[in-house]
Amino acid sequence: MQVIDIINQATEDGKTRFAFELLPPLKGAGVSGVFEAIDPLIEFDPAYINVTYHREDVKYVEREDGLLEKRIVRRRPGTVGISAAIMKRYGVEVVPHLICGGMSKYDIEDALIDMDFLGIHNVLALRGDNLRGEHVFRPHPDGHRNATELVRQIANMNRGIFIDHEVEVCIHSKFCIGVAGYPEKHAEAANRETGLKYLKAKVDAGASYIVTQMSFDNSKIFDFIRDCREMGINVPIIPGIKPFSTNAQLSMLPQVFHVDLPQELVTEVEKCKDNGQVREVGVEWAIAQARELKKAGVPVLHFYTMGKTDNMQKIARAIF
Ligand code: FAD
Repeated sequence: MQVIDIINQATEDGKTRFAFELLPPLKGAGVSGVFEAIDPLIEFDPAYINVTYHREDVKYVEREDGLLEKRIVRRRPGTVGISAAIMKRYGVEVVPHLICGGMSKYDIEDALIDMDFLGIHNVLALRGDNLRGEHVFRPHPDGHRNATELVRQIANMNRGIFIDHEVEVCIHSKFCIGVAGYPEKHAEAANRETGLKYLKAKVDAGASYIVTQMSFDNSKIFDFIRDCREMGINVPIIPGIKPFSTNAQLSMLPQVFHVDLPQELVTEVEKCKDNGQVREVGVEWAIAQARELKKAGVPVLHFYTMGKTDNMQKIARAIF
């Protein structure tokens, strides 16, 4: 089933559902950790499960002569495989993420063909971040510069148009394409309006829905939805919620994800004696956010779990 049909059904039923995002296991770790994270959430009937995509990383290794050698490593490969394994085990729809970073158009086409063969018909199309140590995003020489171009490639494939234009007769893929939106502006967008203009370009290129970057402030999510509508972006918008979980996130989340933390949340976290207490504060905050968004009629909430789902269980029990 396509995610857009799940979203539309939830809207029709007036029932907010939840989806969550997991990371593929570290290379060599096997699948059991991922299943252990999913098992306790299945009873709450997740609408679908997203699996992130991780580009290559840079590692510096000290050589015998004392100099540092730069090595390219892939720590979390296997997004498509683990997505298929989840779908097979739980019978739940999966949404593998696909990125431009480090990928040629041919690599992307291969991944999409694999997904199609495996019966995966949903994909979240993203640009991905810069390679560690690079200050600007450098596309693969045969790749895409932004997510708009990636959406176009997937939408073309749905029309039977492949990269080399060699295919004359084919069974068309039918990927439902989601894209990312930023209630607090993408760090590289010149301004809010420009960011929305490019978001509209992704929708016009073929995206069926938008998932937002995490925000801890619902008023920013509501403003974003209003601004999108005024801009003529009419597809469903799925708010992203991250249960806050460690003291270190007070500085890490603003730095990495370019989001502001409301003062009330910061004050509560600063009162905590350990990360166990921070996790509880995060659960309460996420529950309050989810309640308000549910009341506003949001069809699906997207939870960022970072692979650990004990807090997600508490939220699901309270809300879904
Ligand atoms: P884009 O939409 O390409 O935007 C990037 C910048 O380019 C923006 O400033 C935008 O305004 C601009 N832009 C967009 N289109 C155009 C255009 N046509 N012309 C000129 N400029 C344009 N990263 C991962 O590596 N793996 C993941 O699995 C992953 N999952 C994510 C899931 C969600 C829900 C979100 C919100 C983010 C995720 N990310 C992931 C992070 C994401 O890759 C980064 O935020 C990245 O910097 C931007 O990705 P994007 O798809 O929004 O890029």
